[in-house]
Amino acid sequence: MSGMLGAGMTSQRTRARLIERLRAQGITDEPTLQAIGAVPRHLFVDEALASRAYEDTALPIGHGQTISQPYIVARMTAVLRQTGPLARVLEIGTGSGYQTAVLAHLAGDIYTVERVGSLLRGARKRLASLNLHNIHCRHTDGSNGWPEAGPFDAIIVTAAAREVPEEWLGQLREDGRLVVPVGTTEQALLLCRRRGATVSCEPLEGVNFVPLLPGGVV
Ligand code: SAH
Repeated sequence: MSGMLGAGMTSQRTRARLIERLRAQGITDEPTLQAIGAVPRHLFVDEALASRAYEDTALPIGHGQTISQPYIVARMTAVLRQTGPLARVLEIGTGSGYQTAVLAHLAGDIYTVERVGSLLRGARKRLASLNLHNIHCRHTDGSNGWPEAGPFDAIIVTAAAREVPEEWLGQLREDGRLVVPVGTTEQALLLCRRRGATVSCEPLEGVNFVPLLPGGVV
């Protein structure tokens, strides 16, 4: 019993340290920091890696995929939060479900799609165990977005796209935002906004994501 309590408190303390590090790295959006503080990242990685869950690093989640580095999760979340409403959000690349869980604390409804069935099953279990009920998951190729669930206030893509598909832009509300890593070996995180038929994008920073994979589900 005391052991369990100890473990819980340790993770709370290491999470608090992570928040301080994110602050030092320039993440100032308080609701984003609170959401990251509320999500137990160690539950989103394999038990063998749990002790490293609060380091500011990406970690493997199987199938050649990674859970994104906390700084990048914080940066993408803060950008979306600070640029407009988040009533309805689409995420491409559920992976472990960590980014989904962080967004679930800040968004009305979050729709998330993943091409690898077994990753999605794991994410679903974790998200249900955390009592997050505003999340809708779909096993599909995210290149097409989720047309029936749109239009969205925001779309977040957590794998690097070679280019931005029309489908995503078409599922954005007027004034909707898209945050997406674009490129192959060199990648830039882009923030795009749709106004009428015009989409304008600005680069935020250099990033290093696993590639968005074409060709259906596995
Ligand atoms: N947000 C995740 C990051 C996972 S890495 C997290 O916090 O853990 C990127 C994810 O995108 C992987 O799970 C990968 O399987 C998924 N992915 C890659 N290409 C995809 C596609 N075309 N459609 C949907 N998901 C895709």
